[in-house]
Amino acid sequence: MNMEFKRKLPQPSEVKEMFPLTEGMKETVKQKTEELQDIFSNRSDKLVLIIGPCSADNEKSVLDYISRLAAVQEKVKDRVMIVPRVYTNKPRTTGEGYKGFVHQPDPDESPDLFKGIIFTREMHMSAIKEAGSVCADELLYPENYKYIDDLLGYVAIGARSVEDQQHRMTASAADCPVGMKNPTSGDLSVMMNAITAAQHEHDFIYRGWEGHSNGNPYAHAILRGYVNRQGVSHPNYHYETLLYLSELYKNSDLVNPGVIIDCNHANSGKDPMQQPRIMKDVLLSCRYNEDIKKLVRGFMVESYIEDGKQPVGGGVYGKSITDACLGWDKTEKMIYEIAEMI
Ligand code: PEP
Ligand code: MN
Repeated sequence: MNMEFKRKLPQPSEVKEMFPLTEGMKETVKQKTEELQDIFSNRSDKLVLIIGPCSADNEKSVLDYISRLAAVQEKVKDRVMIVPRVYTNKPRTTGEGYKGFVHQPDPDESPDLFKGIIFTREMHMSAIKEAGSVCADELLYPENYKYIDDLLGYVAIGARSVEDQQHRMTASAADCPVGMKNPTSGDLSVMMNAITAAQHEHDFIYRGWEGHSNGNPYAHAILRGYVNRQGVSHPNYHYETLLYLSELYKNSDLVNPGVIIDCNHANSGKDPMQQPRIMKDVLLSCRYNEDIKKLVRGFMVESYIEDGKQPVGGGVYGKSITDACLGWDKTEKMIYEIAEMI
């Protein structure tokens, strides 16, 4: 192989031993994951709000952001369950650019995956303490999931990974709800096939083991908009698409039909300021149609302390270095407004 094997990394069990969960944290993860499972199986009619920066690039500003969310969560807890987005792995369209905290725990320095793995576990543990809740991450590298699987309450399979076998089979082994995004092309059958695969049992190779997964009944859909052949973004959160998705579910043998609307990415045309409007549009669709209301389990929003984005090394505290985000003041207002609408 044309590759330098730089150093042997510790096993997930070794890292977990170095950074174990306290009994209190174990209880939080258990309780909050069950709360999420209740939402995704319609035993609870709360909505989930998976919200936070596109990439968790800096522990200090991420924890600052999460502490602000925790104060808002208290006020809307009867209607909304907030799950902070702590995204430590970033898929890149061309492979270039910042690949996330696991690769570069300091975005201004060279990649250091050993440090990245340790610091990621540490940041997720601090996030649980700060939020008093579980967090979400993207399952971008299936083999890395084991380093933090005991900490997460929600994982998403991204638009560029959703057609991949190893992602689907790893999702079938996850204990927490897993959201399957529609692919960038917008083909909803790919997303439905991914949900089917994740809900079923599989035998597969995982981290050097022959393993058997039991299937994940909480695997569900995420609509994130799509890009057409000319490279133009198109939304897929509108009434007609939601109704169509509800039909796709009815014609399948899937359990726990559900969808999260990703309000950024191709749904907003990467204009994060559109996110509050998109959420309100979807909530109106829920009012018009009972099937849509049953299907929509919540939203994903890209939000940080400052509006917009900056280049890596830009130096503005709490401003995204990947996709542009909605800033804190607008975020807080948006959460109170949607809580009123539910
Ligand atoms: C993201 O959630 O930041 C992301 C990269 O999403 P997608 O896979 O939908 O592009
Ligand atoms: Mn993003």
